[in-house]
Amino acid sequence: MSVKPRVRLAPSPTGDPHVGTAYIALFNYVFAKSQGGEFLLRIEDTDQKRARKNAEMQIIDCLKWLGLHWDEGPDVGGAKGPYRQSERLSLYQEAIDQLSKEHKAYPCFCTPERLEKVRAEQREKGIHSGYDRHCRNLSREEVAKNRSQGLKEVVRMKVPEEGVIRFQDRLRGEVKIDSRQLDDQVILKADGFPTYHLANVVDDHHMGITHVIRAEEWISSTPKHVLLYEAFGWSLPEFIHLPLLRNKDKSKISKRKNPVSLSYYRRAGILPAAMINFLALMGWSYGDDREKFTLKEMMEVFSIDRISLGGPIFDQEKLSWLNQAYIAELSPKEFAQIVQSELFSTQYLEKLAPLLRERLPRLENFVDKAQFFFNGALDYSGSSLVPKGKTGQEIASMLDELSDRLDLLDDWDESTLDATLKAHKDQLGFKPKDYFMTVRLVVTGRKDSPPLTETLVVLGPDMVKFRIRDVLLRRRELLPES
Ligand code: GLU
Repeated sequence: MSVKPRVRLAPSPTGDPHVGTAYIALFNYVFAKSQGGEFLLRIEDTDQKRARKNAEMQIIDCLKWLGLHWDEGPDVGGAKGPYRQSERLSLYQEAIDQLSKEHKAYPCFCTPERLEKVRAEQREKGIHSGYDRHCRNLSREEVAKNRSQGLKEVVRMKVPEEGVIRFQDRLRGEVKIDSRQLDDQVILKADGFPTYHLANVVDDHHMGITHVIRAEEWISSTPKHVLLYEAFGWSLPEFIHLPLLRNKDKSKISKRKNPVSLSYYRRAGILPAAMINFLALMGWSYGDDREKFTLKEMMEVFSIDRISLGGPIFDQEKLSWLNQAYIAELSPKEFAQIVQSELFSTQYLEKLAPLLRERLPRLENFVDKAQFFFNGALDYSGSSLVPKGKTGQEIASMLDELSDRLDLLDDWDESTLDATLKAHKDQLGFKPKDYFMTVRLVVTGRKDSPPLTETLVVLGPDMVKFRIRDVLLRRRELLPES
């Protein structure tokens, strides 16, 4: 009797919810659900420095919007919880204790400065760079002495000094790696949090995960995971690494070349069914040249072995084409409902009121004045985005930096935005007019918009960041050198 799959999506809450997360979620979901199995959501928040406040909530909202429901997760609970790694620290500690007791792991007291020095020397000699295992054989006394001096410590795993690590990837067959290429990996950091590798393996084991379906970029971590499973004496799950989504130029999908935030696509009016259909076509095919199908139809014929490994291109035009086909099928009633809820919700109109009500001689002027609150990419013809005395290159790097700074914000309110813009302007030494007018033009397409930060708040992070990036993508046309 075959075992029902138990799979998981394990996003790290470090930024805007990513289209790649939805893509991996979809294939996990369909794989499990088409075989009567279970789909779990686990939040991998052990990287405290990169964790962002609202990211978990946004991931949950976006996955729900797409209709990918999980059986167990931080919001719904379940028998194998908790489902946030930051709430499972004692489990990781137990695992570390076990490995330490069995001499499969050891404390390391090397400082970042020492590690840097070692790396520099290795670079100079042209040899493989990695940890030199300095602390691997410390005596008990040395360890006790370091501890009594209050030195910071991490725990590292003893990786076999030679041998070949092998595992099967369902789509690729056997993958092999020489263990000499692997470092004695850190499994517990100095802040007391486990690394991704340890927490991921411990959780997949304790949560009874049968198949690990994740993006190809993790394939190089898998040998480390295999060593951990072996060290614990646990059986391996089946590994299935899906091909990476790619930009049009075949590079790994990135925000500099393609919007990647799911909430941006929602804001842009992509219907969830179209997004699911589009993601399904990334590496998988229905079988008979058919490009338009529902989630249910996909599940009826799904086979993971039909995934092809060629890098699927996240093609905006194709997404729009599919979306248009889904919009065309809406009944007049559904159409009215969706336009109302996605574009003209009472909530959004109430936010617009303070910005627009004093500027409308007649209500009929609303559509014209408010256009940029509803459009996506803007038409900038008629106004230059490069102020006099500045070069296109200067404006491009200013916008690039601004978008990175906006990506780091946890809050999106007037005072945060005000402070962020001012600090950036001061740092660049721009005149206020040059700086703020450029941002205003990029984000609204007009010189006479309502007050800037209030406008940014209402437009929201997705649209603001999209427009900045869109200008950067069209920089040849919009930010000419002279
Ligand atoms: N936390 C990892 C991520 O953000 C999970 C990778 C995995 O599925 O093992 O994608």
